[in-house]
Amino acid sequence: MKWIEKAIKPILAAATFTVVALLMAVYLPFNTLESDAAKKVTEADIQAVKEQISLNEKKIAEYQAKINALGKDIADAMAAKEQLDQQIQYIQSNIDDTALLIEKYEVLIKDKEIQIADRENQISQKYNDFLERLRISYEDGTQNYLELLVSSENLIDFITRVDNLGSVLTYEQTLMEELEREVSDLDAMKTSLSQKKNEYIELGSYQNESQAQLAAKLKEAEDLIAKLQEDEEAAKEAHQNASKEEAALDKELQDLINKYEQQQTAVAKGALLWPVDSNYRTISSKYGWRILWGKKDFHLGADIPAPYGANIYAANDGTVLKAQYNSSYGYYVLIDHGGNKSTLYAHSSKLLVKAGDKVERGQVIAKVGSTGNSSGYHVHFEVRINGATTDPLVKGMLVMNYNGKMVDPVASKLLKYS
Ligand SMILES: [Zn+2]
Repeated sequence: MKWIEKAIKPILAAATFTVVALLMAVYLPFNTLESDAAKKVTEADIQAVKEQISLNEKKIAEYQAKINALGKDIADAMAAKEQLDQQIQYIQSNIDDTALLIEKYEVLIKDKEIQIADRENQISQKYNDFLERLRISYEDGTQNYLELLVSSENLIDFITRVDNLGSVLTYEQTLMEELEREVSDLDAMKTSLSQKKNEYIELGSYQNESQAQLAAKLKEAEDLIAKLQEDEEAAKEAHQNASKEEAALDKELQDLINKYEQQQTAVAKGALLWPVDSNYRTISSKYGWRILWGKKDFHLGADIPAPYGANIYAANDGTVLKAQYNSSYGYYVLIDHGGNKSTLYAHSSKLLVKAGDKVERGQVIAKVGSTGNSSGYHVHFEVRINGATTDPLVKGMLVMNYNGKMVDPVASKLLKYS
């Protein structure tokens, strides 16, 4: 082995491995695709997806209804919350008013207390003055005023008793009595103010209690709104998922329908088109052995009666091999469809194509007649595979445009035999 071969050998081995691996990588998915494509789509497959879509649509409608209902519930809960907010605000302003009133009463009470203290000061002052005067007036008297003071029930009693001793103190007595009355009046007013204040304190605590209850309700409303919004979010997500699912299902359905239609077209393309209109589907003579004019005869095609001048259609795309006259076929057309398949149409009254023409399936190539060895207007239709005639009236051979649908006339039992 040359040195260059030695050097190249491992490289070649590695390259071979890579190529094989690549081929497998390419071949395997293609193989899968092919088997996928080979899987036939049935009407049941399409129906199943349609049912899934209908179920999914129902789900979407349900989610939408739920979203709508939740939206209404949320709006209601928010309205209730707003009302509670307003009530709490209103009660707060009442609480503030009450607190102001309590403060005002406290000021008034304080005022009365000052007035009372003032009057009591005056009384005390007057009393001291009185005692002083009494001491001076009775300095050398027989009556001991201290004894009198101690034995008196109260100040008024004392004054009254002192007054009995002389009229000098009448003015002071009146003044004192006036002050005592004022103190008593002020006390009564203070008591009344305190009562009012207490009433407002009670009202304030009631208002606070109401506010606390409203605050609890507000919290409930807020919790409810949060819960409803959470539910709404979940319903919206479910709706969105179902909508995505719908789009996927719609695509799946469209793909299936496309595939199904392609399949149908493929089937129809493979089959040969009925050579005349579907109105004419009676067979007057089948393919095979028959007795013709007292002799055994092998009929090479099927005879389809049709009115004079009716269209004769090319059974498939192809090239015209012959379009000519023959004593037994009369005016006839022979078309090669490729794949060693050809068709022949005989006894026509008129040829519309010539040898070498490319024709398409369904193209009018001739008109019905009764030329050649024929009795009555009809098309003698032959199918040849690898040059040998075969029975055209077997399942899977033909396709007929019947009421706008492509159907197999043999499988569908559309043909009549006379
Ligand atoms: Zn015939």
